[in-house]
Amino acid sequence: MQIQITKTTSPKQKPDQKALGFGKYLTDHMFLMDYDAEQGWHDFRIVPYGPIPMEPDAVALHYAQETFEGLKAYRTPDGGIQLFRPDMNAKRMIQSNHRLCMPEVPVEMFVEATKKLVEVDQDWVPSEPGTSLYIRPFMFTSEGQLSLHSCTKFVFCIICSPVGAYFAEGINPVKILVEDEYVRAVQGGTGFAKCGGNYAAAMAGQEKAEAMGYSQVLWLDGNERKYVEEAGGMNFMYRINDEIWTAPLVGTVLPGVTRDSLIHILKDWGYTVREERMTIADLMQAGHDGSLKEAYACGTAAVISPVGELNYKGDIVTINDFKIGELTQKLYDTLTAIQWGKAEDTYGWTVKVC
Ligand SMILES: *Cc1c(COP(=O)(O)O)cnc(C)c1O
Repeated sequence: MQIQITKTTSPKQKPDQKALGFGKYLTDHMFLMDYDAEQGWHDFRIVPYGPIPMEPDAVALHYAQETFEGLKAYRTPDGGIQLFRPDMNAKRMIQSNHRLCMPEVPVEMFVEATKKLVEVDQDWVPSEPGTSLYIRPFMFTSEGQLSLHSCTKFVFCIICSPVGAYFAEGINPVKILVEDEYVRAVQGGTGFAKCGGNYAAAMAGQEKAEAMGYSQVLWLDGNERKYVEEAGGMNFMYRINDEIWTAPLVGTVLPGVTRDSLIHILKDWGYTVREERMTIADLMQAGHDGSLKEAYACGTAAVISPVGELNYKGDIVTINDFKIGELTQKLYDTLTAIQWGKAEDTYGWTVKVC
């Protein structure tokens, strides 16, 4: 893959690393490549960050044929830069693209494009504690066509944003509203795919939760609204006595890289991890009888977000006195040490950029 690089002639001023927020700033460059049926992927290029011209009848705008990914580049103590399991994001995007009838981006191509862009924008990778460079690869149908036929023209793009800790005060527990009206995913739908449409469909639930003073939604299964699935943009895990539970990957839950990494670490520590369905009734019961010891949401953006309260139809459970759980803290410390290169990566998860 020959990537043509055109550097910006007007680099932006770098933001204050202590006030990055999440997704507020974008770096100087972006990666682009195009797909059509005759040539496959072609015209690999890194260009100054800027608007992408689109026809008003582009299929992505009307029928949401769009997928995306989210990963991070971390500044290591020696001043280097590394990625965390980028191959997992590449593989997941292939699964998402299959579901949305879009062509694959080969794993090596995805990883190489990501590495090259981060290298070009390396001065944008922050070094303050808890900061990183959030990387957003995405793909959409650029072809103009109002009829509902499968398309042959696609654009793959990567943009980057220096980010701070997802939650301002570090990892403080959040309050979660269990959504009993709207659903996010159904069997046979797109729940396992990282596609924009899932988020559009979830916004009403998220807004409702925020209006009630809750920071996130816990989704139940779409068929019966009975089983616990996942949080807004994060997977959900909880400890019942000494076993860790999380919803199984049966098509309605996003297969998170953070989820997978934490399961590996937990099993190495000797914990039983039960990737099984649990009803919300049983979870609330466990909250009331004290067997629900800890709960957290997990994903690349926030890493781990402890859950201090669950509200299901007005029934409220407080978890671990609204304090971060011991195991949750240990998982956070262990995973972030690997990601930021502060501990030895015995799993071979990190990929050096420069
Ligand atoms: C991205 C995402 C996650 C978390 O996945 P990670 O790979 O850990 O970042 C969980 N749930 C949903 C719905 C997501 O979109």
